[in-house]
Amino acid sequence: MSKTFIPLARPDIQEHDIATATEVLRSGMLVQGVKVDALEKNMAAFLKVKNAAALSNGTATLHTALVNFGIGPGDEVIVPAFSYVATANVVELVGATPVFCDIEERTFNIDVDKISKLISKKTRAIIPVHEFGLSCDMKKLMKMKAEKWKRPVFVLEDAACALGATQNGKFAGTYGDYGSFSFHPRKAISSGEGGLLVSNDKGMIDRVKILRNHGIDGSKGTMDFVEAGFNYRMTDFQAALLDSQLSRLNKIIAYKQKLAEVYFNEIKNPKIILPHVPKGHQHTWQTFHVMLRDMSRDDVIKKLRGKNIGTNYGAQCIPAQTYYANKYKLKYKKLYPNAWTAYTTGLAIPIYERLSIKDIKYIAKTLNQL
Ligand SMILES: *Cc1c(COP(=O)(O)O)cnc(C)c1O
Repeated sequence: MSKTFIPLARPDIQEHDIATATEVLRSGMLVQGVKVDALEKNMAAFLKVKNAAALSNGTATLHTALVNFGIGPGDEVIVPAFSYVATANVVELVGATPVFCDIEERTFNIDVDKISKLISKKTRAIIPVHEFGLSCDMKKLMKMKAEKWKRPVFVLEDAACALGATQNGKFAGTYGDYGSFSFHPRKAISSGEGGLLVSNDKGMIDRVKILRNHGIDGSKGTMDFVEAGFNYRMTDFQAALLDSQLSRLNKIIAYKQKLAEVYFNEIKNPKIILPHVPKGHQHTWQTFHVMLRDMSRDDVIKKLRGKNIGTNYGAQCIPAQTYYANKYKLKYKKLYPNAWTAYTTGLAIPIYERLSIKDIKYIAKTLNQL
């Protein structure tokens, strides 16, 4: 038995990260400024993408991207049926209609082969999600977009969980028109709240920078308000915190991969189905998500809590959530069977920098005794 409780997740903010943020606080320059500029440059360089804009969180980024696409009432946006609910909420926020697509059973990512059937005259965008730190099949999706879909559809990658994930060496978030990232404490690196949009199209990021700051066009050096924007700015002390963590992101990912390897080697319970990583993908293990067979998940969560291990649901079957169920009345169990199964039997187990191999072995051993 572990002496202390092992929570499901815990950010690893180190003293030197804190020192960089403190320095900004002492300077008196708190809001978006030079540190945000530096973070954007460093993030773009890390991801090998041309442009980046830091925003207040990973929902503001998705929202702003949809506004920039000009999506609104009457438009449809395809989203996976299994994700964090923000992916669909932003579609509602701009007055458009989310069209749900089932996921793959083994990767928990959108089933790209099922997208074509959902494309209609009203489809304006797709938001593929890289669930739990694994890129969905962006190569196939972008190929379909180029060859199969006659109408122009924007691709907004929700890479909130997948900073550093790759498919064939190319970073998740850099395949589509926009890639969106989050810096919530559950993600790879964190500033409490924070978000980032990236794009190879300079015009698309320039507009985002206007929208995030009350519609001010800063490029002219005057206070010209060119549109009704938001206040979706990041502060400079958050940017400093993130920049400091970014410099060890590769180390964080490598360590989590080592921990995941221990889970793969040590979990040997036929009632626990391990996640699948397709060939050519680098998983970043934002979440280690297993599926339970012939066990009540709520019982398992309770039992593990008794053994000092924190676990929880992985993500939601969005059309089953009260707001979406009431509004769209979709037969979600039948329409999205894989999303429903992942939602009702999936379990997120601890994986983060502060855990030791010994902790992971203890968790695996406890899972084997279920
Ligand atoms: C965390 C998350 C978001 C939202 O990010 P916030 O920064 O919390 O707003 C959006 N989509 C997915 C898939 C997420 O995991």
